[in-house]
Amino acid sequence: MKSTSYNFDTLAVHIDQEHNAEKGAVVIPITLSTTFEKKYPNIHEGFEYARTNNPTRQKLEKSVADLEKGKWGLAFSSGSATLSTICQLFETGDHILVIDDVYGGTHRYFSQVLVKSGIQFNFSDMMHAETFEKEIRPSTKMVWIEIPTNPLLKICPLTEIIEVSKKHQLLVVVDNTFMSPYNLNPLTLGADIVVHSATKYLNGHSDVVMGLAIGNDLGIYERLKFLQNASGMTPSPFDCYLLMRGIKTLSIRIKAHNENAIRVAEFLEKHPNVERVIYPGLPSHPQHSRAIQLFEKGYGGIISFFIRGDLSKTIEFFQNLSLIVLASSLGGVESLCNHPAFLTHSAVPQDIRLKMGITDNLVRLSVGIEHIDDIINDLKQALDRISTQTSAQ
Ligand SMILES: *Cc1c(COP(=O)(O)O)cnc(C)c1O
Repeated sequence: MKSTSYNFDTLAVHIDQEHNAEKGAVVIPITLSTTFEKKYPNIHEGFEYARTNNPTRQKLEKSVADLEKGKWGLAFSSGSATLSTICQLFETGDHILVIDDVYGGTHRYFSQVLVKSGIQFNFSDMMHAETFEKEIRPSTKMVWIEIPTNPLLKICPLTEIIEVSKKHQLLVVVDNTFMSPYNLNPLTLGADIVVHSATKYLNGHSDVVMGLAIGNDLGIYERLKFLQNASGMTPSPFDCYLLMRGIKTLSIRIKAHNENAIRVAEFLEKHPNVERVIYPGLPSHPQHSRAIQLFEKGYGGIISFFIRGDLSKTIEFFQNLSLIVLASSLGGVESLCNHPAFLTHSAVPQDIRLKMGITDNLVRLSVGIEHIDDIINDLKQALDRISTQTSAQ
């Protein structure tokens, strides 16, 4: 299994298939050894120490690079560790532009951790390439993009933002966690680095925390590979194995997420207790035509919606759910509901959160791969049972 000309579905299934020369095992072994025997005169050849490199991790990194149509991949102990390692490429005085509606932990890292290093950053709306270009300073070095954003699912003009960034020699990083490599490959649009919180769709079973960076430029690879080892935020071989196991079903999982989510979004949009639904696959999405162009296979499994009424109605909705679990992650086979204002984005100060549009009645739903009728029935009963108030709302 060496050819990268296979279709995505095939590449994903055969992620770890490299027949073990010695034993003929079909699944790659988990190598737990922290150190590897060296032999003179070639003591710098091969594996050395598990933080620096490990056979199980190396196989995962190569395979994920193929799925993202990149030349190299590097695995980190979490999506957040991937972010912080990439930021170590920069120095005091450098400036970074970050899309404004980012994952809560990314927002927290930039505003509460990176800021102490003297590296400057600004949040940018990035919805128009011309206004974005005006925000670029002589010291700007990197642009950090999420598409769609989290949790408001805004879709920036990705191709134009990349074009403008390249004109100014910025490093373009795209967090592709939400779409997964099945629905979008930002490297093919000119991005320099694609990052994933592999904790989400890539693994898909809510039992591994991991991050990945993928790219084409070998200079960037060398610098990140050095930092991966020097900063030491590497995943365990066992988690690398689990991730490869999860990725084998990535194609059929994402197909199911895509198919279920559009139907759930259409259902929610018609329900009287739902004020508004945001889903890139709905014609009502403000950047729907952009979504059609960018996402050829589907619009992903994440839906955001607003419950009609005050906070108590939203809490009632969560309490009424019986199949769908209230929990802060996403991208697993099970449907999960999140209350961004109090879970994933609780680290964002309230005034900023409200300005971002993350109100108390916002629900982010990660649509799982359960039977569509069961998902819709659970949402329906939870919405139907929200008590009606006699007082004006
Ligand atoms: C979860 C998430 C992260 C952070 O990843 P961890 O693996 O939790 O550290 C980053 N970006 C996005 C879009 C996420 O959903």
